[in-house]
Amino acid sequence: MKKMRLLLVVLFAVMFAETVKADRMNSKYAIVIHGGAGSAISNEAFVAAREEVLEQALDAGVRILSKGGTSLDAVEQVIRILEDSPLFNAGRGGVLTAQGINELDATIMDGRTRACGAVGGVTTVKNPISLARRVMTETRHVLLVSEGADQFAAQLDDPAIEIVAPEYFRTEKQVERLKRVKEREKLTTKEKMGTVGCVALDRNGNLAAGTSTGGLVNKKHGRLGDSPIIGAGTYANNTTCGISCTGVGEDFIRHAIAYDIHARMHYGKQKLESAVQHVLKSEKYPIVGGMIGIDLQGSITMQFNTDGMARAAADSTGLRVIKAGK
Ligand code: ASP
Repeated sequence: MKKMRLLLVVLFAVMFAETVKADRMNSKYAIVIHGGAGSAISNEAFVAAREEVLEQALDAGVRILSKGGTSLDAVEQVIRILEDSPLFNAGRGGVLTAQGINELDATIMDGRTRACGAVGGVTTVKNPISLARRVMTETRHVLLVSEGADQFAAQLDDPAIEIVAPEYFRTEKQVERLKRVKEREKLTTKEKMGTVGCVALDRNGNLAAGTSTGGLVNKKHGRLGDSPIIGAGTYANNTTCGISCTGVGEDFIRHAIAYDIHARMHYGKQKLESAVQHVLKSEKYPIVGGMIGIDLQGSITMQFNTDGMARAAADSTGLRVIKAGK
């Protein structure tokens, strides 16, 4: 009799777990990507080429999320694709420092646990976003920079962490661009930037956010922008939202922009859309750039106060947007 009762309890527990799993699998997912805020691009071929890469990245993210994969996996995979493309300012094709080298920054954050990892000034790691994730999972630290980050990467025996020569990142286009900017001396803040970011909500209701960048063209050796700074360029918290920013990083750091959006929602009970709108429009926040975000209900926002921002989004209701021009 006792055995029978135990068997029934186990049976009910298994059935309950299966129902919960099925419910979760039916729940929604959402994903949003940016490819940098800046001037609107008028070259149609360039816009089309960027949209093709955004589409590949978006599809990779959707494949992971629709099958019940994690938001962290989606964010990492999407950003890897954008880092591999020379059309964005992240990984290969990233902008150059004043000395003409690539110093790359990236961050990833888990909204469920607030675990996060970031790298800054990396020169030999093909996909900085994956290294940022390894900092999160394989160390007790949050941010590793320069030689320390490159050394950590070299010690990892991990196929996702490929080591390349620094020249791998360097493209003719960025060499030319550095020359141009140096001639003009001052970069106009609205010039096309091209940092990449991704926020995702998975079917288990977990948010994740990530950002990867070469930074600002003609930056000083050693300069870190907002992208690798938790709460400035990237933030994720399951109680509110996930956020990835693009723009002039120093301003996003000064005003802790990504955390500010979370705080507006958490303490001020604002909605994601209006919190982002307020921050991008208010004179109290002298920032130039854009933001993408998803709240815990799966609402997506993509906003900018520059002339353009490459962006893409999709969700389980069938939403699908890909835009690289204005
Ligand atoms: N926010 C980046 C930085 O300042 C640049 C960008 O978004 O394009 O490093």
